[in-house]
This record gives sequence, structure tokens and C-alpha cells, in this order.
Amino acid sequence: FASASDLVDVQLGKEISKVHTGLFINGSFVKSASGKTFKTFNPANGEVIAEVQEGDKADIEAAVKTAKATYENVWSKVEGAERGRLLWRLADLMERDIKKLAALEALDNGKTAAVAEAGDLRLAIDCLKYYAGWADKIEGKVNMDKSTYMNYTRHEPIGVVGQIIPWNFPILMFAWKLGPALACGNVTIVKPSEKTPLTALAIAAPVKEAGIPDGVVNVVPGYGPTAGAALTAHPDVHKIAFTGSTRAGRIVMEGAAKSNLKKVSLELGGKSPAIVFDDADIDQAVNWCKVGIFFNHGQTCCASSRVFVHESIKDKFLAAYKKAAESIKLGDQFDPTTDQGPQIDETQLNTILSYIEHGKQEGATLVTGGKRAGTKGYFVEPTILADVKDTAKIWQEEIFGPVVAVSTFKTEEEVLKRANDSNYGLAASLFTKDLNRAVRVSNKLQAGTVWVNCHNVFDQNTPFGGYKESGFGRELGEYALELYTQVKTVKINLGQ
Ligand code: NAD
Repeated sequence: FASASDLVDVQLGKEISKVHTGLFINGSFVKSASGKTFKTFNPANGEVIAEVQEGDKADIEAAVKTAKATYENVWSKVEGAERGRLLWRLADLMERDIKKLAALEALDNGKTAAVAEAGDLRLAIDCLKYYAGWADKIEGKVNMDKSTYMNYTRHEPIGVVGQIIPWNFPILMFAWKLGPALACGNVTIVKPSEKTPLTALAIAAPVKEAGIPDGVVNVVPGYGPTAGAALTAHPDVHKIAFTGSTRAGRIVMEGAAKSNLKKVSLELGGKSPAIVFDDADIDQAVNWCKVGIFFNHGQTCCASSRVFVHESIKDKFLAAYKKAAESIKLGDQFDPTTDQGPQIDETQLNTILSYIEHGKQEGATLVTGGKRAGTKGYFVEPTILADVKDTAKIWQEEIFGPVVAVSTFKTEEEVLKRANDSNYGLAASLFTKDLNRAVRVSNKLQAGTVWVNCHNVFDQNTPFGGYKESGFGRELGEYALELYTQVKTVKINLGQ
């Protein structure tokens, strides 16, 4: 199913490995209809890793056609238990290939191989196994209120779904999308980000090896305005699940509305607050505020990018936070001592640096960091800016880099108002030893996830998604089944 030209040699850490570069359609790796390719880069040095086939409208057309036929003729006849077995087998194969997949993720994205393995891959495997367990439990309800009618509901698959994923967690976002879609009985066309196409293609091979029928999972790398837009507009795609920027999310929703009113779920950006109350365990708060913003180099949609610290503990907190940020070691993603690798690309590097400059110009105090690290690759020092005003651009806009804005507050009422004063509402965290306050404040925060005394903690069994302009629909947990099913009522006349 792979042609010689599809597999190319890539240096993965110390080893040379073959990786797929073709579009994965109907169980085979194929060339793009246009013959066009695009390059993907190692962000640690800017060097080309590989040239990947560039999917466009014609390739999306081919993928949807095969997916539709597979759904009608094959996949809709496969029972839940079997879908579950296939998903479980895929997860086992990913476990078998975990080192290689983690290394490829590290190479293409810039995160460390160690984090990719222990974090992204582990969570992705657990996610697929979790949804494997759901596959034979997609159940409706029965209503027998009237003696002459029996009513029941069926939770039916939608059919052909389109799934567009970003570059910050390529494998994990693939698993979040694939798991529930397949468990519920759908077929899919996945469009990975043009910045990190390699691991989605690498997982396509074990999809085939697991025995998932050809055409059930199709992977078409390409650009957003071309391949992504074609998927969004396609009349035979009845659901689009999108993770990415709020900007592109709006375009996707518009595309869905203008075509066939396909169902849409959006996981978008954020500017999540972390609130450190005066009774917090400061070491614990500092550690989680470090994880909150610096994990994945700040390229996390739910990053704790706005930290509110109670004015009475500002100095103590900032001194410890500075030390924590300065303890982060930047370096090559394959060096086991590296904590933080490069940002995804040069554009992102320059955007982050310009936000830092803007922050300083708007009167923020630079506590630590603030510069590019080195001259090769796209490394940015972990940066803390304090005394940031609520009107500042770095307080309001998502930076998507290792840059945190800190401000102080006096009262609970004040901090709640300011924390909620954002167009985003993806996540929030608060640090306190007072249980009553933890529950009271959690209830009032406008966010899809509230973490108490932690931040950026994920499990496959708890839902994740946004309030306000951070999107709608919930991935993970039982809630994600709603994204990939539609409810049919059947009414049976038991009388005359
Ligand atoms: P992006 O919006 O530029 O791209 C995301 C995906 O959408 C890519 O595959 C891209 O090709 C595609 N795309 C772009 N324009 C499109 C269009 N017009 N039509 C269809 N598809 C299009 O975002 P990004 O830079 O890849 O990712 C970073 C953003 O994603 C951040 O804003 C971040 O907060 C968000 N994000 C959110 C979550 C979440 O769960 N809420 C998770 C990860 C990332």
C-alpha cells in the first residue's frame, strides 16, 4: 500500500527511519492529483525534513468519495464490538511503535521526544482505548409513557466526517478526533496541519495494519484555505470537527453554513487566567503556573497566560516564579536533558518576540527572559512580564508562546470580574487552600475547564472545550459521543 516514492529516509534522533509522505486515501499512500508537494521543517534548525504530497480540492473529493462508499457498503455494517476491537488494536500498535512515533512528533513539532512519548503518545493511546470501550455502548432511550405508543431513540452515526487538526499536539488531536468518530460508527477524512503532517501519516500505516477497512480513515495533508476549505465546503461531509485558531474557526463555520449546514464543533484559542489567592501553597502554585504556560513551549490552547496573584504575596510569588522559569533548559528535542525545544516556525518566533516588545512598550516589567535564544532554530526564552495592564495587548491576545503576563488583585470579586473579562473562555485555574472559595470561584469562572490547585491536566474521561469564542462542543469523555452521533426517534403505534 506504499509506493517506493512515498517512503523517505529521515534522521530520527540517532537513527535513520523511513516515513510516509503520500496522501492516505482508501488504504493507500498516493500522490496528490496536482502533483504538488510541500516541505516540512525541523524547527530546531530550520532544515527540511521531507517533502509531503500536498492535498487540495481534487484529493479531498477523492477521499470523500471513497469514505462515503466505505460508509455505505462496509463500515455501517460493522458492529460496535468489532469497531472497539479495531480501535484497541490500533492503540496497541501505536504502543508498539511509541518510540518512533514520539521521535517523529519531536522532529516535526519541536517538542522533546521524552515529552512526546510520556505525554502526547501516552494520552493518545489511552484516548483510543477509552473510545474502544464506548463502541458497543452507543445507546438510546426508551419512553413508554403512553400505553398505545412505544418510543425509542437511536444514536446513529453521522456518516462522513471531516476533522481538521492543528500543529501543537498533532498525534493527540488526531486521537481525540479519531477515537469517538470511529467508536460511533463514522468514517473520516483527517486534515493535519501543514506545519506537522508527518505523524498523522505515520499513524495511517498502523490504521491499515490494525485491520480498519480501507476508506474508513483517510489522511489528506494540505493547507487550510485549500484542502481545509474543500473539506469544510463538501456537500457529502455532514460534520466538521475543527481545532485551531478562532480566526480559522470562524471561516470553517461560515463554510459549513454556506454549503450543507454540516454540524460543526470548534476547539479554539484561549487566554486562560490562573488566580493565586493569598492562602495558596506558593510552591505548588508556582509549579503549576510554570506547567500552565511553559509546557509545550506555551503552544497550548489552555495555557495559563494571564496570572493574577494576590497583591500581598506578589514579591514572594514572582521571585519563585522567576527561579522556576530560569530553571527551564532550552535545547535540541532529542537531548534527554532538554526541557523546552523550539517554537514551531519562524513566523511564530517573530510573532512571539513582537508581543514581548509590545508588552514592554505598554509598560510591563520584564521579570525574566524576553529574547530569542541562540541564532539557529526558533527558540524563545521563558518570559515573565509583570505589572501588565488589563488593556495591554499581551493581556488580551493569545500569544501561543512561552510568555506569561502577571498582574495583582485585591479581592475575590475584583479578580473574578477581571478574569472573566475576555472574549475567550477555554480554561482557568485557581490556587487556594479554602475549599469553599475553590468551589465558589470555580462556579463563577466563565471557562470550559476549571482546574483547582493544578493546570493543564488532561484525562480521556473528562470533557474539554470552550465557552465564548473558545468554541463549542466537548471533546473527550462521554460528551464527545454527542459530536459524532445524531438522534433518531422511532414511534411505534401499539394500538389502532
Ligand atoms: P490554525 O487555525 O492556523 O490551523 C489549524 C488547522 O486549521 C490547520 O490544519 C490549518 O491548515 C487549518 N486551517 C487554517 N485555515 C483554514 C481554513 N480557512 N479552512 C479550513 N481549515 C483551515 O491554527 P494553528 O496555528 O494550527 O493552531 C494554533 C491555534 O489552535 C491556537 O489558536 C490554539 O489556541 C488553537 N488550539 C486550540 C485547541 C483546543 O482544543 N481548543 C487545541 C490546540 C490548538
